[in-house]
Amino acid sequence: MAARAGIVVTGTEVLAGRVSDRNGPWLADRLLELGMDLAHLGIVGDRPEDLLALLRFQAAEGVDLIVTSGGLGPTADDVTAALVARFQGRELVLDEALEERIAQILRSLTSRFPGLDMDAVRAGNRKQAMVPEGATVLEPVGTAPGLVVPPGDGRVGPTVVVLPGPPRELQPMWRDALGQEAFRAAVAGADELRERMLRLFGIPESEIAETLRRAQTAGVELDRLEVTTCLRRGEVEVVTRYPASEQAVYDAFADVVRDRHADTLFSQDGSSLDDQVLGALRGPPRRTVAVAESCTGGLVAARLTEQPGSSDVVVGGVVVYADEAKTALVGVDPEVIARCGAVSGEVALALARGAIARFDAGAGIGVTGVAGPGGGSEDKPVGTVWLCAALRAGGALTRRVQLPGERADVRDRSTTVALHLLRRVLAGESDRA
Ligand code: ATP
Ligand code: MG
Repeated sequence: MAARAGIVVTGTEVLAGRVSDRNGPWLADRLLELGMDLAHLGIVGDRPEDLLALLRFQAAEGVDLIVTSGGLGPTADDVTAALVARFQGRELVLDEALEERIAQILRSLTSRFPGLDMDAVRAGNRKQAMVPEGATVLEPVGTAPGLVVPPGDGRVGPTVVVLPGPPRELQPMWRDALGQEAFRAAVAGADELRERMLRLFGIPESEIAETLRRAQTAGVELDRLEVTTCLRRGEVEVVTRYPASEQAVYDAFADVVRDRHADTLFSQDGSSLDDQVLGALRGPPRRTVAVAESCTGGLVAARLTEQPGSSDVVVGGVVVYADEAKTALVGVDPEVIARCGAVSGEVALALARGAIARFDAGAGIGVTGVAGPGGGSEDKPVGTVWLCAALRAGGALTRRVQLPGERADVRDRSTTVALHLLRRVLAGESDRA
């Protein structure tokens, strides 16, 4: 069995949504890296009784470890340390050496604010130095120390790692916690939980349900795995979690997916489309890319340049919304626009070829479509988008897609389709001439 964990995020501002929670998702990733099974993530306000109730709930669910975030400040509404002491049945005691270390940090901070009420500062300082007896102290990055608190004598239950709320303090202190003996003792002996992701493009989620049925029929013991599918940005993500001891079962399942979805499975190691496209551009052979976009208004170029370092392969792009711009900037023949319409395969191809020529690039993308809500017609309804990815060396893929959703969805989804076409054309696929 993998070690089970819970996360408790505290703070009325987080509960209310004034601050969006960055600690829960961050800690979830870290727990997964450690092979731990995150069972619960809860958010409570700064009310002691609610915090205690959530700790008790997660403990009753049998987690081995609870990580808390927030509520370690000097003021009276910061109650986490005292409550965790109570929860674990440990006395709260003053750590005098810690009090002095915090005082030193405060001296350097308060020297910038001469009018401060030093009595209040000292009281807050003392409060932050009150720690549960027997707990391991994590040195403060800000002013608040963190804690690793095992259950008190004679008790069974989870060890609690107590961390401050500000993410830039929480993150280094989490790493500090990992090295502590009390932390390792809490998770020792547990099996490692693994997570693997397969990504597919161009099939409905229901197809995966059918694949699961077939895998079962073929004798793959799926009940030993936890398979979840999720539709995101037009791609189907199949995420599987399993104890390391079930690797063979996962391999058998992945084989069934590979066999049945060879044409749509584009990522077997969880790598993203964006990473794959940039990787393929970098080669060998290395090829640069340029884009000419109409309905996406620059979103394809934005997506290509989202990743640091993309300047080594992304040369540039133009937004050619008006017909005249398509002609003036990337040389689309006005006669083709008049004959086929601005939203057509011919124009998508001319945009891709025009981008290649204009930017002297190795590959080009062209996008033209009806993002809506207006502008649709019977044969080109809202959501109709023509896309093309082409190589200077020859080879091109031109596709018409009918995308669901509102204007923002159509535009966003178009970027995904465009990148998939680029990925495929870089891999050597091409329409028959
Ligand atoms: P402090 O000593 O700063 O009071 P603390 O441990 O008491 O630290 P909180 O009072 O809970 O932490 O939060 C302080 C600030 O840290 C919040 O106002 C918020 O800006 C940020 N913060 C807290 N929790 C989160 C969270 N879950 N996600 C993102 N930011 C957070
Ligand atoms: Mg606080």
